[in-house]
Amino acid sequence: MSEPLHIDILDHGFVELIDFMGDDRRCANAARVSVRGDTRERSDKADQGLIARLLADHHTSPFEHAVFQFKVRAPIFVVRQWMRHRFSSFNEESGRYVELVDECYTPAQFRRQVGKRMDYAFENLPPQENSELQAEVQALYRQSYDLYQKMLATGIAREHARMVLPLALYTTFYWTLNALSLMNFLHLRNHEHAQSEIRAYAAVMEDIFKEKMPWTHAAFREHWGTAMI
Ligand SMILES: Cc1cc2nc3c(=O)[nH]c(=O)nc-3n(C[C@H](O)[C@H](O)[C@H](O)COP(=O)(O)OP(=O)(O)OC[C@H]3O[C@@H](n4cnc5c(N)ncnc54)[C@H](O)[C@@H]3O)c2cc1C
Repeated sequence: MSEPLHIDILDHGFVELIDFMGDDRRCANAARVSVRGDTRERSDKADQGLIARLLADHHTSPFEHAVFQFKVRAPIFVVRQWMRHRFSSFNEESGRYVELVDECYTPAQFRRQVGKRMDYAFENLPPQENSELQAEVQALYRQSYDLYQKMLATGIAREHARMVLPLALYTTFYWTLNALSLMNFLHLRNHEHAQSEIRAYAAVMEDIFKEKMPWTHAAFREHWGTAMI
């Protein structure tokens, strides 16, 4: 079997495409069954037109017939946002069963929030302050991980000891979802209102989606409304 597509993200994260089932044509043919349609090979133009029409009309169920499976490594605070996407399947490594790896996210560039609570912008921390803060944050990560190790060494259960670890710790999970759920995720998370860290992952996934399902992707970006599903 060939190696899965693997893309590194942030300082220790990645996305891997483990598997993909279906394609644009599979979704178009799923729609045609409703009129007992002929599912022999159609012209590209006919399939592209049908896909665009389906998405424009919010006839979304045919897009449940293409499925993506990813392996993702991301900081816990990112995964906490990710797991709100209920119409998808998750399996995550267990901090009860395995010792967690000493990998925490340190932003290359810290950002300041400027403005009011619901109406703000970001500005970069100046280079000197940025590197001082990086060092301070990493010292805290080291202290937390050392305490975690000390607790394990004294026999404290992994499920208890992990409570001293930061939200920036990386975790790994499998994520399986259909193209409809993926479009909902991309609409919300590859968006300027999403936090930049989860957006970095969503941008990579949108590239993969575009490569695997170019006609659906084009129709998604043209027609996806603000409350599609
Ligand atoms: C920029 C941003 C900021 C956010 N801020 C917060 C926040 O401050 N606090 C917070 O708690 N969450 C927050 N969220 C999470 C958000 O409210 C959603 O839970 C998350 O984006 C998942 O979206 P979803 O429900 O569409 O996805 P999924 O859970 O995958 O659901 C897909 C679709 O299925 C339908 N659906 C799913 N479950 C139900 C249900 N129970 N009833 C009816 N229809 C359902 C909906 O149409 C939904 O769009 C934020 C999300 C974003 C993108």
